[in-house]
Amino acid sequence: SRAKLYQPDTTTRTTFADVAGIEEVEQEVTEIVDFLREPERYRKLGAQIPHGVLLSGPPGTGKTLLARAVAGEAQVPFFSMSASEFIEMIVGVGASRVRDLFDQAKKVAPSIIFIDELDAIGRARGGAQSLGGNDEREQTLNQILTEMDGFTGSEGVVVLAATNRPEILDKALLRPGRFDRRVTVSPPDLDGRRKILEVHTRGVPLGPDVDLAAIASTTPGMVGADLKNLVNEAALLAARRKHETVIGADFSDALEKIVLGTVRGILLTQ
Ligand code: ATP
Repeated sequence: SRAKLYQPDTTTRTTFADVAGIEEVEQEVTEIVDFLREPERYRKLGAQIPHGVLLSGPPGTGKTLLARAVAGEAQVPFFSMSASEFIEMIVGVGASRVRDLFDQAKKVAPSIIFIDELDAIGRARGGAQSLGGNDEREQTLNQILTEMDGFTGSEGVVVLAATNRPEILDKALLRPGRFDRRVTVSPPDLDGRRKILEVHTRGVPLGPDVDLAAIASTTPGMVGADLKNLVNEAALLAARRKHETVIGADFSDALEKIVLGTVRGILLTQ
């Protein structure tokens, strides 16, 4: 049934402690957390909280993680939808799905709706207008805009959306009352990479020779998702080698494997 599709995730216990290296971004969303915890306090003061926050940044930088952490910190239900799944839908279904989603979120408010890959439905109109599927996309987009315009501010629902390509979004999405708050999630710097490695090695027994700051300095360009993968590859190597702990050589070999794999991938696609 449709209702089943949007079971909110209330078991999410992701918190800001799980998000590393993007502290400024965390600060930008603390007001949202505060509002979701005590919407009544804001309401009494007549304070307007943003209805929509757009998280933009490259893949794997932690946008989804951050949205979950906002829900976890505020301890509110987290409804998530991937915009691309709406594109595959039977004509006419997308808009009603959006309506259902917002209805459910309002029922259990305060709550968060997270829309991943917003650009899949939110890209600017024009171009291949006559192609099939475009109408569906536009109807879905229009329904999202209608729902957000209908917010009076007392619903206690905040919509967070993520995109890798903010520049292609329909300007209508960015108008006041819609996604009028923009947050940029950038790839981590050296210090950020070290902090992310710390988060992902929390449950990992490390050998005495492992220096996370040194590993961070050998991984320029890597984002959170890459670093998480690196830690896991190193742990797998350690297991295969029957090590008691994950040692420096496991990390350097894992890194080499990942980097070579990437180079090979690039060569193969040329
Ligand atoms: P995409 O645009 O591809 O959806 P995203 O920005 O939403 O990517 P996530 O899905 O949140 O990225 O990141 C994938 C995983 O990588 C996370 O679940 C987390 O384990 C890890 N990760 C990413 N960024 C961070 C970070 N800043 N701190 C800690 N872990 C991170």
